[in-house]
Amino acid sequence: MPVNTEKFREIRDELGGDVTFVVVSKLRTVEDIKELYQLDQRDFAENYVQELLAKQLELPKDIRWHFIGHLQSNKVKYIAPFIHSIQGVDSFNLLEEIDRQAAKNDRSIDCFLQVHIAQEDTKFGFDPKELKELIAELPRYKLVNKLNNVKICGLMAMASFSEDHEQVKKEFRYLKGLFDDIQSDVNLPAFKELSMGMSNDYKIAVKEGSTMVRIGSLLFGKRPDR
Ligand SMILES: *Cc1c(COP(=O)(O)O)cnc(C)c1O
Repeated sequence: MPVNTEKFREIRDELGGDVTFVVVSKLRTVEDIKELYQLDQRDFAENYVQELLAKQLELPKDIRWHFIGHLQSNKVKYIAPFIHSIQGVDSFNLLEEIDRQAAKNDRSIDCFLQVHIAQEDTKFGFDPKELKELIAELPRYKLVNKLNNVKICGLMAMASFSEDHEQVKKEFRYLKGLFDDIQSDVNLPAFKELSMGMSNDYKIAVKEGSTMVRIGSLLFGKRPDR
């Protein structure tokens, strides 16, 4: 299945300069990525550490790699030398480990706190109430633990896999409200990004205030099995 470059251009034009377009390239080939790289795309996201490492070695160094989904603490060290953002930070232990590994590499890593807003059960992501409590604690926590090498730059979430637009819209709206609350309540200068919206719901997400969308299958077709 070739890359749908026409769709790519269409989405890029539609998003304009306001919303960051992250291409989700998990389980796609290096050739596919190169094709979009040649069209000046620089933000790509991956879900699997081994796959990401192999691709990063082969591809140009000015790609901004984003890690989406669940990341085990013991794997942070492999991607810390180059990863641009980690979207899927779902515990403070993980945040601390990212900070430690980023410091070792003398760099800073953008971190998105993942929130669980969908109806489906999943182990991953903070539940909103828990997130608010933890964020309220963050200034004190930063004082103790420093966290000088992570930039807490916003929230990431996935809406329910649903054809019900109203439900999806409700979830995105809820997330935006949570994001606004945190922005006004807590002094976190870098907290500016709201990563929400995928192939099937990015238009709704953008209307509801997304600053970053993560799109894969619209460009590449159905993902192959892992
Ligand atoms: C796979 C994935 C996407 C992209 O999904 P598509 O439906 O292919 O656009 C976005 N975000 C996360 C966290 C993912 O795991």
